[in-house]
Amino acid sequence: MLVDTHIHLADKEYLEILDQVIEEAKGRFKSIIVSGIDYQTSLDAIRLAEKYDFLYASIGLHPQEVKGLEDLSWISKLAKHEKVIAIGEIGLDYYWDEQYKEQQKELFIKQIEIANELGLPVIVHSRSAHQDTFDILKEHKTKGVLHCYSGSLEMAKEYTKLGYYLGIGGVVTFKNAKTIKEVVSEVDLKYLLTETDGPYLTPHPYRGKINRPIYIEYVISEIARLQDKTKQEVEDKIYNNYLELFGGTSEEI
Ligand SMILES: [Zn+2]
Repeated sequence: MLVDTHIHLADKEYLEILDQVIEEAKGRFKSIIVSGIDYQTSLDAIRLAEKYDFLYASIGLHPQEVKGLEDLSWISKLAKHEKVIAIGEIGLDYYWDEQYKEQQKELFIKQIEIANELGLPVIVHSRSAHQDTFDILKEHKTKGVLHCYSGSLEMAKEYTKLGYYLGIGGVVTFKNAKTIKEVVSEVDLKYLLTETDGPYLTPHPYRGKINRPIYIEYVISEIARLQDKTKQEVEDKIYNNYLELFGGTSEEI
């Protein structure tokens, strides 16, 4: 069974194709985690997850939405919902501007603390902020996944040493994506998870189109090739990793 640990399925891009996307994923997916980036989209993620048993929600304040020291009390409230299984996406993003760098760090740490209080894993976004993200996750220990991991192999090794998982998506299928291919071939399979990050980062050969969970088949194929394992082995192991991080218990298949 497949898992998609990160998708913005409640976004408007999916409105017209949602029924089709759900239908094609049914019976093939054990879990799809719909991610919010602020209060409203977190609520939307929960509403969508309520409709289908294999959909779950992840709630939090994305670093790009940080415009000051926002109130985060809604997170603990919404997290009580039975379909909320993670806090995210949260993290650091210095790509567009560094104006709110300090606030981003503070709110990232606060959300890690909320996740720890609730016993939930975090889904971490890091863009142009690899060292700061790592320093925070090292100092403020928690359990979680570096969604759409885009760092170096050295840093991947440091993260996995601390027990963090790496989210692998469509980028690994791109011909020129040398670093992530290197990461996937070197890191132990027990630290890898699959995700779409839809609507973006659609794998080859559908690059440029709206991303859909079912395309994770292509991500699994590439991981299998790089790890020199069968697709079934990769699929089973990643599902097991998913259970260890999000399922509360470990279950061998
Ligand atoms: Zn995302």
